[in-house]
Amino acid sequence: MNGEFRVGHGFDTHRFSDDPERPLILGGARFDGVPGLVGHSDGDAVAHAVTDALLSAAGLGDIGVLFPDTDDAWAGADSLQLLADAVSRLATEGWRAVNADCTVVAEAPRIAPRREEMEARLSDVVGAPVTIKGKRAEAMGALGRSEGLACWSVALIGRP
Ligand code: MG
Repeated sequence: MNGEFRVGHGFDTHRFSDDPERPLILGGARFDGVPGLVGHSDGDAVAHAVTDALLSAAGLGDIGVLFPDTDDAWAGADSLQLLADAVSRLATEGWRAVNADCTVVAEAPRIAPRREEMEARLSDVVGAPVTIKGKRAEAMGALGRSEGLACWSVALIGRP
């Protein structure tokens, strides 16, 4: 392999909202019939984990530093735009994503039926394949009690 490569890891978790009007957005896809996630932005934990994996790989900080939840500019933000911003920050440093992979842990919603749509949306923004799989917490702990949802992500980035 020629060039320089780095891996990065991202994690994010959000609590499910009590607000019936709040939509659930994961990987840029809207899921109807399930509670949304509490968050300053749209609460898209999958996009946030991928963003952190990419930023971290490049040593460019993390989503909380770049898009602080104390800044009204990011209130209700489309997390795919935050991800796009991170991708362009990487490009400025000569980095491009090679791929990213995500594991979403939640009792609901089921990820599999929407997996391809989420992968397509994220891959389009990242400019490289993003893969996703869903897992359940088997009724253990806060995730198993459906208090919230968590996502882990790894990303590989490279530059010539
Ligand atoms: Mg988040």
